[in-house]
Formats: sequence, C-alpha cells, structure tokens
Amino acid sequence: MDDLSRFCCLHSDCPDYGKRGAENLSVCDRYGPSKQRRMLYCRTCGSRFSERKGTALFHSHLPEDRAMAVLQHLGESCGVRKTSRLTGVHRDTVTRYARLAGDHAKALHDELVAFSPSNRRSANG
Ligand SMILES: [Zn+2]
Repeated sequence: MDDLSRFCCLHSDCPDYGKRGAENLSVCDRYGPSKQRRMLYCRTCGSRFSERKGTALFHSHLPEDRAMAVLQHLGESCGVRKTSRLTGVHRDTVTRYARLAGDHAKALHDELVAFSPSNRRSANG
C-alpha cells in the first residue's frame, strides 16, 4: 500500500490544492533507478506530478544538482558563507535552504524528499 496521506495536490488551481489525505491522489507511475520514486495523479484536477515536488528541492529555483550540493555542504557543517562560496549559490538562497532542510540536511538522502515542508514538527528538536 502506498501511504499518500502526506502528499497533496500541488496545482494551485485545484480545489484540493494543499489538502493532505483528501484521497484525491493515486500513484500512476514509478520512476528512478529502482523505481523508488512515484508519480502521483490527482483525480480532482487530473494533473500528474512527482512526489518529490513540494519538497525543499522543488521549492528552490536551483537545478537539483546545485540544490543537492548546497544541502550536502550544509550537511558537512559548512557555514552559510562557506557553502555559498563553494557552490556559487547566493547566500540568501543558502540560508533559505538551511531553514527548509533543517535537521534533515544531515540525513541528506532520498529520505529528505519524503518530508513535506509543513510536516516539520521537530523544529525545536
Ligand atoms: Zn489536483
């Protein structure tokens, strides 16, 4: 069974936009090296999107590899300034990433993308 309760439709025009657990989503496809990533389908508006959408990576305007590099550096305890210098990403953007990723920057992996941004109950540890 696919637990999709943490996901929601990401099309702002959709009546079910942002609603979690509305049961409007289903898995319509899988992709990735071992098919571990899911494509989700919204029954309400008929749109399809990756489950990775809506995560820290997708909220950024950086290409995924740059975003990954930023998170990796942050995960290695590089400060914002150092990360900015090493990755060539603007400091403000790095700061935004640091906030978005929070503790998960350390875990930095596929797990990271499984957390939706509003699921951060552990902001204070
Ligand atoms: Zn929708």
